[in-house]
Amino acid sequence: MAQQIQAIRGMNDVLPADISAWQHLEACAREVANSYGYEEIRVPLIEHTELFKRAIGEFTDVVEKEMYTFTDQGGESLTLRPEATAGIVRAAISNGLLRGARHKLWCIGPMFRHERPQKGRYRQFYQLDVEAIGFAGPDIDAELIALTARLWRRLELSGVRLEINSLGTPEARRAYRELLVAYFRRYESALDADSRRRLQGNPLRILDSKNPQMAEVIAGAPLLSDHLDEPSRAHFQELRATLERIGIAYRVNPRLVRGLDYYSRTVFEWLTDALGAQDAVCSGGRYDGLIAQLGGEATPAVGFALGIERVVDLLVQAARVPGAVPADVYLIVNGAAQAGAAIQMAEELRDALPHRRFEFNLGGGNFKAQFRRADKSGAALALICGDEEMARSVVAMKPLRQESGQTECPRSEVASRVEELLLRLTSRPSG
Ligand code: ATP
Ligand code: MG
Repeated sequence: MAQQIQAIRGMNDVLPADISAWQHLEACAREVANSYGYEEIRVPLIEHTELFKRAIGEFTDVVEKEMYTFTDQGGESLTLRPEATAGIVRAAISNGLLRGARHKLWCIGPMFRHERPQKGRYRQFYQLDVEAIGFAGPDIDAELIALTARLWRRLELSGVRLEINSLGTPEARRAYRELLVAYFRRYESALDADSRRRLQGNPLRILDSKNPQMAEVIAGAPLLSDHLDEPSRAHFQELRATLERIGIAYRVNPRLVRGLDYYSRTVFEWLTDALGAQDAVCSGGRYDGLIAQLGGEATPAVGFALGIERVVDLLVQAARVPGAVPADVYLIVNGAAQAGAAIQMAEELRDALPHRRFEFNLGGGNFKAQFRRADKSGAALALICGDEEMARSVVAMKPLRQESGQTECPRSEVASRVEELLLRLTSRPSG
């Protein structure tokens, strides 16, 4: 036997048995995004490497060590997208969508990062990405957070908690950055290798370190919130007031940061205790400087990314996954001569009842075997096309989940009778 080819490490198949949770999450995300007036956008999975270097920043884990970058046949350096914001902003600029206009956009799709695979951390993973471009005020920050809160409610997920912070403006952050660098220099021997490197390029990222040995030195660091500029303080105050007004609980986490200069003001993260080490399910923030940095006209923007696999895990754990929907009708052929006529009838039924699910008994088999398959399919109703029925231009109908007998109907009325019967068989008794 030829050697089997394995999937790439950290890249998962989503099998039909697991698809219900994904589809449920995607459907709810669409519904909720739509209810706030957000529109879907789809952008390429591959972009010029330069885009991500400029958008994500050179001193980030993602750009330093996680990108899938390759040279294509034309000699260009291209990268599989590690996140969606860069591509969406690039699309807004290159399609001329900005020019003072405002856009509320969402997108779902795979991202690629060469990380160490473990539960909740993969090399291909999916994100729901929502971006609001052209909005400066705290109202849109609150709306994006409200949208995520609504999604948790819609999914019936409790136990995700919100942390928020303000990063101020890049100008105000510069002064703070100097304080921070001075502080960490005093404790340089306590810093791990990553942090020592970041001290040069991106000292704020040190605050974000996940190394427990760094916790103590980080806890003593000066706080950005003590160094906010006045307009940012007002922006944050208004965001907090709005969240309180619409009943969204939050905790201010003064160490929640984004390291890059184009970030400003609001950052937020939704966390859970149910997933072990990979506790962030959604994170977002305001990136007022990014669009200008990518060559567009200066435009404020804010957005978030939600990790689909992690939320799917939450749904499965909390048993919030709707069951798979079985077939409505299973078509049984009694007598080989009728197979062609039965397939034709199945096609006509699908024309007439496009919302119903029909399973045609493929591959023949005796009557008993077909009935067994019909039972296993979970269908509510079996239709039987036999030589005898066809000769009289009728079809036999047999409910499979209830102790009611077999009936017949004229071939010409089969669609309406099937619909009638299905409504009766699948309606729950009221009261
Ligand atoms: P983390 O701190 O877990 O590495 P991050 O800060 O790198 O997350 P973002 O880039 O902000 O994450 O992405 C937003 C969300 O995407 C995260 O909150 C998480 O739910 C999800 N996510 C990020 N990286 C991965 C991954 N490698 N595998 C699965 N989900 C991921
Ligand atoms: Mg990460």
